[in-house]
Amino acid sequence: MKPLSRRDLLGATGRLTGSIALGLPLAGASATNPETAAPSGVHKAKIVVAGGHPDDPESGCGGTIARYTDLGHEVAIIYLTRGEAGIDGKSHAEAAAIRTAEALKACEILKARPIFAGQIDGSTEITPASYEAFGKILDAEAPDVVYTHWPVDSHRDHRATSLLVYDAWIRGGKRFALYYFEVMTGHQTSHFWPTHYVDITTTEARKRASYFAHSSQQPDKYYPYHDEMNRYRGMESGRKYAEAYMRHLQSPGDSLPGAV
Ligand SMILES: [Zn+2]
Repeated sequence: MKPLSRRDLLGATGRLTGSIALGLPLAGASATNPETAAPSGVHKAKIVVAGGHPDDPESGCGGTIARYTDLGHEVAIIYLTRGEAGIDGKSHAEAAAIRTAEALKACEILKARPIFAGQIDGSTEITPASYEAFGKILDAEAPDVVYTHWPVDSHRDHRATSLLVYDAWIRGGKRFALYYFEVMTGHQTSHFWPTHYVDITTTEARKRASYFAHSSQQPDKYYPYHDEMNRYRGMESGRKYAEAYMRHLQSPGDSLPGAV
């Protein structure tokens, strides 16, 4: 295992402007969390990916998650809900059981650890109590980097997830680097302008497999949308397949001269 470098993880960021290219996920992680660095100086990063439903983290970040775990870093996936409302003809309890099993299978493929945050699909809440509850889950992970939905999204549960993460980030003193991911841009995510790309050419097959683990969600019908996005982001960044992210500019770890 070795520390991630910009070259390791990020695809063609060198083609972007310099200031953008310097805002890197793991460069910030080791700088802000020296206590997590191994004695040898090798830093094992803790990554959290938070999504509204089983299959969102996989479709938004599956290739990136596989790249992190291949490099020996730890990834936890927080599913805000278990997809209770997501299978026609099934009760919430039945759908939750099916979709939880699918999520576990997807996590196994990506070598990630699942966490279920206990909200209900289609009825997610943004309240003082829900901020508190979600904040505790995220704080307990002490992440170096967190990925979540970009908040301008047609799905309420995606927006709720994003705001819960953002609130925890603010209240925790912005200690982790915050990145936003996209899902079905043009249909769900909108007004999303990437600042970073991750080359997922070598992990696209596992991303696809993790998505197809959600067999109750018609992956044959929906994966082509994700495939198109992966190819489009790849085209933008000069790779075959890529995933795109927007980094919050106040994330720690920016290595620009004089950065605070
Ligand atoms: Zn979703």
